[in-house]
Amino acid sequence: MINLVLFGPPGAGKGTQADVLKEKYQLVHISTGDVFRYNIKNQTELGVSAKGFIDKGQLVPDEVTIKMLKAKVEETPEAKGFIFDGFPRTENQADALAELLESKGTTVNAMVALEVDDEVLVKRLLERGKTSGRKDDANEAVIRNRIKVYYDETAILKQYYKKQDKYYGIDGVGSVEEITERISQVIDKL
Ligand code: AMP
Repeated sequence: MINLVLFGPPGAGKGTQADVLKEKYQLVHISTGDVFRYNIKNQTELGVSAKGFIDKGQLVPDEVTIKMLKAKVEETPEAKGFIFDGFPRTENQADALAELLESKGTTVNAMVALEVDDEVLVKRLLERGKTSGRKDDANEAVIRNRIKVYYDETAILKQYYKKQDKYYGIDGVGSVEEITERISQVIDKL
């Protein structure tokens, strides 16, 4: 099994790369943001409880997020591996993921982190907001809050995986193909 944590601030290109990589390596892609948005659209209990946080650009509480992630992983017991996109975002979530994978006799093999300058992120997200229909992409203050939350609450996970020798920083500026190639060089050596 290959389990990847695709990491980076909002707008770094995680979703775009996950779409390519899941085909190339036959992995199951789990985007916690996508799962939340699906639940919001369908007005499930989970969606209702997550919406307020997401619209403000804040993190959904760990308890809710971890429960959802576990259920999502259990949906595909035959998976050859996973790309976790947007998860973990806190140390609690990283611990929960380690525990879950350990119970399946596997582990996180690598954190692949896409590195992109903040101003490029804001520009990309505002551009995406014109077509994504995402409320959290439409407002610059919310975008800047999401980036701030990333640095305040999520970026520490870099150290978490560095300590385990699993951290790989990737230049996230370039064409989609160029970035896929950079990530593939990491995966192919795992
Ligand atoms: P994303 O699509 O990854 O940019 O996520 C959109 C929003 O969903 C985030 O700004 C958070 O409000 C929420 N979210 C997604 N993943 C997580 C997570 N792992 N922990 C907490 N909140 C999350």
